[in-house]
Amino acid sequence: MEMIFDLRNVSYSYARRINALKDICFKVNQNEQISIIGSNGSGKSTLLSILDGLIYPTVGEFHAFDNKISEEVFNTIGDNAFRSYFRTRVGLVFQNSDVQLFSPTVFEEIAFGPMQLNLTPGEVKTRVLEVMEMIGITKLKDRSPHTLSGGEKKKVCIATVLASNPDVLLLDEPTAGLDPRTQLWLAELLQELGDVGKTIITATHDLELVEQISKRAIVMGEDHRIVMDEDVEKVLNNVELLLDSNLIHEHMHIHSKLAHEHLHTHKGKHVHEHDTECDLSSTRIELLLAKELE
Ligand code: ADP
Ligand code: MG
Repeated sequence: MEMIFDLRNVSYSYARRINALKDICFKVNQNEQISIIGSNGSGKSTLLSILDGLIYPTVGEFHAFDNKISEEVFNTIGDNAFRSYFRTRVGLVFQNSDVQLFSPTVFEEIAFGPMQLNLTPGEVKTRVLEVMEMIGITKLKDRSPHTLSGGEKKKVCIATVLASNPDVLLLDEPTAGLDPRTQLWLAELLQELGDVGKTIITATHDLELVEQISKRAIVMGEDHRIVMDEDVEKVLNNVELLLDSNLIHEHMHIHSKLAHEHLHTHKGKHVHEHDTECDLSSTRIELLLAKELE
């Protein structure tokens, strides 16, 4: 199985003073679904920025697809084959949608990624229409992204990332500010994407989402170190750790349900065997698969 990421004793500090990550070590294999959990300020967003190649470790090494990612190899001006390759494989959905949206219309926003991929204008258009259909935002096509609601903006951001069809998805607190129905929609979407082979790393403190979409959880402590990296089930059953990490409070009801019980009953792991009652149409899944095979 392909190794996607390998962090070797990574520390990061902003302006050489503000510690954000301390001695982080973990590896990510292809098709893993991992949640990064931890209280505010523990370093989740910083970690995703490292994984997306937006910033580089202050100490330690970050390797992706068997290449060391550093400012020297990654941030050179002009053509950089590895950087382009990395960008086609990894996509980040930012916590704040407004940071991500810049085009006059939703259509153009989603077309931006595919336009960098050597596709013909016709192919770009087809892909944008397909992704809008899949995410259920076709009716927003001509709207200005900045006039949309929070949930609609989030959907557009997810569509912009999926339009480039990366196989590694990074999401920063994706359910924050979404209504319950949209949260459920997103959890289902991430389950489906995991089932078609995507590697998904989600920073969140939404423990219900953690249970729904991931098999492994990495818990960040307030000292910016990893305090636990284990199966979701083990992490969610560790009440003391969750209390210590500010992820639950004493009066909170804790789910006893086992981790990873799918929201919909899937008949099997294979996409074609999905329960037809599943909200996500099979067309949508086939679309994802087709993209996977491209
Ligand atoms: P989380 O996403 O878990 O809330 P962050 O990665 O955003 O945590 O932040 C980790 C630490 O780094 C915090 O102490 C935060 O204040 C600090 N930090 C984050 N971004 C910046 C920045 N751009 N400049 C300075 N400090 C920052
Ligand atoms: Mg954050």
